[in-house]
Amino acid sequence: MNNYEPIIGLEVHVELSTRSKMFCSCSADYFGKESNTHTCPVCLGLPGALPVPNKAALENCMKLGLALGCKISDESRFERKNYFYPDLPKGYQISQYRWPLCKSGIVKVRNKIGEVREIRINRVHQEEDTGKLTHSGENTLIDYNRSGVPLVEIVTEPDFRDTEEIRDYAKKIQQICRYLGISNADMEKGDMRLEANVSVRKVTAGHPELVEGSLAHAGPTSVGDSSSTTRNDMLPPYRVELKNINSFRFMVAAVEYEIRRQIEALDKGERLIQETRGWNENKKQTYTQRVKEEANDYRYFADPDLTEMIVDSDSVKKTKEEMQELPVDKQKRFVASYGLSETQAIMLTDTREFADYFEEAVRVGKEYSLQPTKVANTLINKKFNRDEILPAKFVEMLVGEQEKGVLPDEELEKIIAQAITDNPQAVADYKKGKESSVQFLVGQVMKFTHGKADPNRAKELLTEKLSSRV
Ligand code: ADP
Ligand code: MG
Ligand code: ZN
Repeated sequence: MNNYEPIIGLEVHVELSTRSKMFCSCSADYFGKESNTHTCPVCLGLPGALPVPNKAALENCMKLGLALGCKISDESRFERKNYFYPDLPKGYQISQYRWPLCKSGIVKVRNKIGEVREIRINRVHQEEDTGKLTHSGENTLIDYNRSGVPLVEIVTEPDFRDTEEIRDYAKKIQQICRYLGISNADMEKGDMRLEANVSVRKVTAGHPELVEGSLAHAGPTSVGDSSSTTRNDMLPPYRVELKNINSFRFMVAAVEYEIRRQIEALDKGERLIQETRGWNENKKQTYTQRVKEEANDYRYFADPDLTEMIVDSDSVKKTKEEMQELPVDKQKRFVASYGLSETQAIMLTDTREFADYFEEAVRVGKEYSLQPTKVANTLINKKFNRDEILPAKFVEMLVGEQEKGVLPDEELEKIIAQAITDNPQAVADYKKGKESSVQFLVGQVMKFTHGKADPNRAKELLTEKLSSRV
């Protein structure tokens, strides 16, 4: 058996939740609205209509670029990406190609074995979304409400090596968009769309082997940035693009399948080709959608209706100052100022709302000398509806428990483990389906703790423990 290494690059599109569209004043809030009601001469591509860039969108694009460690170009441009398809009535999409707004970033992800790896971001650029086509029988319906909605594209270098990295990366992009408040990044609604480019290469004694007849496939991603090609010059001479996959889970499944398919093909001595494939969830297989005979010719050129954008360092600084604290920074601060573990900090910063809830509870709890670590532990372990029990109420309950001398979870868990070891018969009965055995074990725990445990919590933890043991 040969040894192969997967090579994966991601393209992520994120729709910005600005009020108006990218180049006109139509409302960008199109989801579920009546077809073709959010349109005007600009987004319908009528002759003579002139685009005016949306400043808020560009600021949001810049924020995302900064959050992903990119440099902001002091000069950037919009270009026309020409193609003929009715989802864009102009005959081209306004995008960025040679002069993107943000370039050369880094995102840290975790791989399958828990190592931290760096993924290079090639670019974060601004473009516009297309209209939506619905095919029914012989007919095709077109809705231009989405045409011209601000869209940001984030392109990585082909640096992913396993699907855990992909999952972690996509989740991070989603989390950052939500933290920055620039998009809901909801995959089901199409606010966030993933495309994975997959190839595999042979490795011999830990080193990539150059595939016969192939040399650097620098590709268009490296335009204007020679520094990023160094690790790319041993790339396989093809890549398979996985498109139109609208969930993290399906994307991971599709990439896993594709890696296996490609390795099997290469082992049989087959040649792989450049193509676009989709995912069939019923068959759990990828399938050919479009075979690229040759590279698309989009005839990019600078849009003469839009001038060059000049960004000075002051406005970059100002945008940085306006940005919400990012998840990584919040995590570091939580570790430093509240003495949390890294794992706790990661869990509590999952969403901005959760992190705010925690900090508010810590603030209120201070008056009762409640430890931040205690607040963190309880929030992580206890499931409850945070919309119903506000931080002040939560702290009140926690303080109440402490005063009554109710045992904290950590100690309760030890006693539960003991009760399980001491009562094998009750445990066996429970496994056979005798639910009341739990009640017996709760009784044992209460006896052991002289009534200091919360019986409901004891039952919860016992049930959890009993059902997790094999
Ligand atoms: P396109 O729009 O034609 O898909 P882009 O330059 O926008 O081109 O994106 C190319 C993507 O493919 C990038 O994410 C890049 O990292 C990735 N890529 C390039 N070569 C390979 C390869 N051999 N295997 C896997 N991914 C690749
Ligand atoms: Mg692509
Ligand atoms: Zn419009």
